[in-house]
Amino acid sequence: MAVKGRFAPSPSGRMHLGNLFSALLAWLSVRHEGGSLVLRIEDLDPDRCRPEYALQLMEDLRWLGLDWDEGGEEPAYWQSHREEHYLAAFEALKAGGLLYPCFCTRQQRLAEAPHGHEVSPSCPCVHLTAEEISKKSTQRPPNWKVRVPDRAISFSDGLQGAYSQNMTAQCGDFPIRRWDGAWAYQLAVVVDDAAMGVTQVVRGRDLLSSTPRQLWLYEALGLTPPTAFYHVPLLVAPDGRRLAKRDADLDMGALRQRYKPEELLGLLAQLAGQRDTPAPVTARELAQTFDWSRVPRQDIPVDGALLCGKKVFS
Ligand code: GLU
Repeated sequence: MAVKGRFAPSPSGRMHLGNLFSALLAWLSVRHEGGSLVLRIEDLDPDRCRPEYALQLMEDLRWLGLDWDEGGEEPAYWQSHREEHYLAAFEALKAGGLLYPCFCTRQQRLAEAPHGHEVSPSCPCVHLTAEEISKKSTQRPPNWKVRVPDRAISFSDGLQGAYSQNMTAQCGDFPIRRWDGAWAYQLAVVVDDAAMGVTQVVRGRDLLSSTPRQLWLYEALGLTPPTAFYHVPLLVAPDGRRLAKRDADLDMGALRQRYKPEELLGLLAQLAGQRDTPAPVTARELAQTFDWSRVPRQDIPVDGALLCGKKVFS
């Protein structure tokens, strides 16, 4: 079966070097194998996402020579237009007895959560009676959580290797829908990757720990999960800090003023272990020789000269 990948950015600002690195690897991986690519716009958060960022992102990808076969401008590939699909999945989980309303405040959730988690394996709301639920519902609308099983969910990541999480101890019941109706990323990404027939997921390493939750949702919803996951390293500043959209000197606006597309691709190709030098190269040339075994697993510090805005090419 032909591989089908996707790039699923959240349009909350101008793309930066780190987003571009993930996008390039997703593109190279499918193009090397002659597969197809979906560009899905993950604009679930109306406060942070703007259509103009999505359109700019598409223009930036085209400038680099990165294309896609489905999605992009098409509204059916924007999460803000896909409410009915999330609602159907929500109703299916609810009918299966896997959801419960949670009335905890954010402070209560944080106090009960294990260190570094926002989820609580021991949410008291799981034990509420029907009577208690209807009484509490008159006071405030609940968040909806999905109940996780007490077992390990394991998978083999194409880059990071074997990964396993005990769902109760290491993850806990997690939110699917917020009190104000907003859909959780975990639900939307599963519903969409399944509906779009995605077979290969390439994304940042920061999402590795979300994958067992997503695999559990595929199972609970009776959907087919992607067959391959590659969680790619993040680009970090020399002090180890993750590059973010606020690093304006590394956003596409600044980068496009300093580099030609082939120069920027050369730089990224070297960071991705695909070339020994940052010599200019086209996306098509890179796709021919793309090799996952040369992609580093650990986060990649970005050259100080680049961070300071100096050109690394003569
Ligand atoms: N929308 C997410 C982001 O921009 C990526 C989600 C995914 O690739 O699963 O970080």
